[in-house]
Amino acid sequence: MRYAVISDIHGNLAALQAVLERIDGLGVGSILCLGDIVGYGPDPGECIELIRSRGIPSVMGNHDQVAAGLADPVYFNPAAREAILWTRGRLTRENAAYLADLPRRIVLDAMVLCHGTINDLNRYIISPRDVRDGFAEMEALGEATRLCYHGHTHVPILFRKDRFGVHRVLGQETAVAENGLYLANPGSVGQPRDGDPAASFLVYDKGGGTITFFRVAYDIAACQNRIIAAGLPGWLATRLALGR
Ligand code: ZN
Repeated sequence: MRYAVISDIHGNLAALQAVLERIDGLGVGSILCLGDIVGYGPDPGECIELIRSRGIPSVMGNHDQVAAGLADPVYFNPAAREAILWTRGRLTRENAAYLADLPRRIVLDAMVLCHGTINDLNRYIISPRDVRDGFAEMEALGEATRLCYHGHTHVPILFRKDRFGVHRVLGQETAVAENGLYLANPGSVGQPRDGDPAASFLVYDKGGGTITFFRVAYDIAACQNRIIAAGLPGWLATRLALGR
């Protein structure tokens, strides 16, 4: 069984279409989403409808939560706030209800999906302490999960916990150790922030025991033009080309 894991699409339809095309080309049938389907980008409704039509299970991201009207954009920077209020104003009732009903976490096949951390969709896993807490939340779940997928930082990264401690695992492809626990962030489809503007995702091959990160070039200019045409802040277009 192989799973493709995507996250932080942020209303970027061009990037989402390119990633799904690549996943289909790889022949991976099961796709999982870690939230932030909307926010920042010009095509929130189209992205929701594509995720729904493909039957892709998703957890709730902090932008989905605010777009659905379940929270206010208290911790959002000015451009993010302007974009999420624009998004909230143009979602159909049905799409807003879809976002409002997204679960905070999904557990399946010894894996757990969350947006920020298992217990907090607003928390980033960045510092060594965050990573330790991330593993602690995973162990406290009481489910036999070996892999926790999280998004929110828009930076692809992989951590392993084993009897020697917690380590960052480098490399595009990793062999999954039998006795290890893993925290895996696939990076962002629609707004990468690791300096590489290409859309990011990962594939977990359960049978083969590997986690592989992928990057996909997409039509950045198409999304930038849609952002400008929508009257959204120009920085949101600029940053897509920078991968920041
Ligand atoms: Zn995000």
